[in-house]
Amino acid sequence: MTARTFSVPYGNGEIDFRLKRRQRRTLAISVDPDGSVEVIAPIDAPLGKVLEKVRKRASWIRRQQRFFIQFQPRTPDRQYVGGETHLYLGRQYKLKIVQHIQQRVKLYRGQLTVQSLRPRNADVTRELVEQWYRDRAREKFRERLALCQLRFPNPAEFVPASLTVMQLRQRWGSMTPRRKLILNRLLIRASVEAIDYVITHELCHMRYSNHGQAFFQLLDSVMPDWQGRKLKLERQLA
Ligand SMILES: [Zn+2]
Repeated sequence: MTARTFSVPYGNGEIDFRLKRRQRRTLAISVDPDGSVEVIAPIDAPLGKVLEKVRKRASWIRRQQRFFIQFQPRTPDRQYVGGETHLYLGRQYKLKIVQHIQQRVKLYRGQLTVQSLRPRNADVTRELVEQWYRDRAREKFRERLALCQLRFPNPAEFVPASLTVMQLRQRWGSMTPRRKLILNRLLIRASVEAIDYVITHELCHMRYSNHGQAFFQLLDSVMPDWQGRKLKLERQLA
C-alpha cells in the first residue's frame, strides 16, 4: 500500500497529510505524536471528496496538533486555588494548598498538596506546581524511556543521544536526525500507556525516519496495542 502526500489550506497555512487507500467504507483521519496527519480513504473515493472531508475536519486536526486543552496549564479554568483538579499520569488530583515554611509540592492521599509560604498567591502556587511537573516529567520520561527501549529485541540500538523535555506547540514528541529525543513536557499529564506510546513511536524513528510500511511493521512488533493507546490519547480531547 503506497501513501501519497497532499495538503489542504487552513488559516494562514495548510495541513499536510499522507493519504492511504484501503478496502473500507469510511474515511479515517488521525494525528501522530509528531504532528503528522494520516488519512485512510476507501479505494474508490474521489480525491475531491477526500480533500473536502479533510478541510471539514481541519480545526479538529489543528486542535490535535496543538494539544489537548486540558493539558494546558493556563486554560481559563486553571486558577491555582484549592479544590480544582489537575492531571498527572492520566489521573485527576485535587489541589490542596497549605501554608508552610518549606515550599514544596507532593502527591499525598490522592491530593496534589502545595506547601507555600504564600498560599493565597495563585502565581506562587502556579510556579510551584509547574516546577513540580517539570521535575516529574524529567524523571518519569527517563524511567519510561529505559522501559520502552527494552521492548526492542536489540535495545542497545535504540538509545537516543539525549533526552530533552520541553514545551512543544504542536506535537507530543520528535526524534531529530542526530538521534536526540524531544518530548513535550505536558505529556506528563497523560497516562503512562500514552507516554509509552509516544516514546516507542519516536524510538522507531531511530530506524526509519518516515512513516512507511517498515516503520509501522516495527511499531506493530514492539507495541501491538499502539493503536488503542493512540486512540485513548486522542479521545481525551474529543
Ligand atoms: Zn512519527
